[in-house]
Amino acid sequence: MTAPAVELRGLRVELGGTPILAGVDLAVAVGEWVTVIGPNGAGKSTLLRAVGGLLPAPGAVSLFGTPINSLRRRDRARVVATVAQSPVVPAGMSVFDYVLLGRTPYIPALGRESTADLAAVHEVLDRLDLGAFGRRELATLSGGERQRVFLARALAQGATLLLLDEPTSALDIGHQQEVLELVDQLRREHDLTVLATMHDLSIAGEYADRLVLLADGRVAAAGPPQEVLTEALLATHYRANVRVIPGDHGPLVVPVRPR
Ligand code: ADP
Ligand code: MG
Repeated sequence: MTAPAVELRGLRVELGGTPILAGVDLAVAVGEWVTVIGPNGAGKSTLLRAVGGLLPAPGAVSLFGTPINSLRRRDRARVVATVAQSPVVPAGMSVFDYVLLGRTPYIPALGRESTADLAAVHEVLDRLDLGAFGRRELATLSGGERQRVFLARALAQGATLLLLDEPTSALDIGHQQEVLELVDQLRREHDLTVLATMHDLSIAGEYADRLVLLADGRVAAAGPPQEVLTEALLATHYRANVRVIPGDHGPLVVPVRPR
């Protein structure tokens, strides 16, 4: 049996003396897409940061069967790539140079990028229809274009596990679909594993194999979208009045004003 891409065993995280994650268990199979949902402040971003090795979580996180704290930084970067909720956009940096940053784990200290690194960047830019943007300054791109560039950097890194923290929150619905369809296509073609967080519950359910509902630092529910997106669970954990209606790719969640 192959080890899961992600395995969390009793993940606890405290920040500033406050418990944020209070014992989270989760396994994500290789090739699976799991999306973490939950109200603001539930700990979704914290969970992704712990999986990406950006927070200490001794013994609780394994990636592809290896405890994350036994992976060196460089090796970890070849396995897992994170697209943060609002990545810092370095001033004056071109799209090409930004995507080239994804090759850092392959470039020797004090060394220069190789022809292979440059070729990898060109390939990813073409793949994501960004070929014409290489020389553009990243800061001048639209939200949807920029999101594609963030993905490009993650893919150039060669990682097979993508951590996407609200990858589409800043996008209109057309660009949301475009980016998520692209991620799904890449996932199928390259056998990538996706662990994401998302606010839009209908979209979360349409793209994920499984949803994890996080509330107060714990897993309140987990399973296929139709088991997690229920009016009762959403009323309890979001204090939201919603109708859940069947859709072609999972339940659709419609907020309705309370009577
Ligand atoms: P989500 O992504 O689900 O909205 P986060 O993981 O960003 O939630 O945050 C979870 C909780 O942790 C929030 O209550 C937030 O205020 C708190 N938190 C985040 N970072 C820190 C920090 N550095 N120190 C103290 N509390 C923090
Ligand atoms: Mg967050």
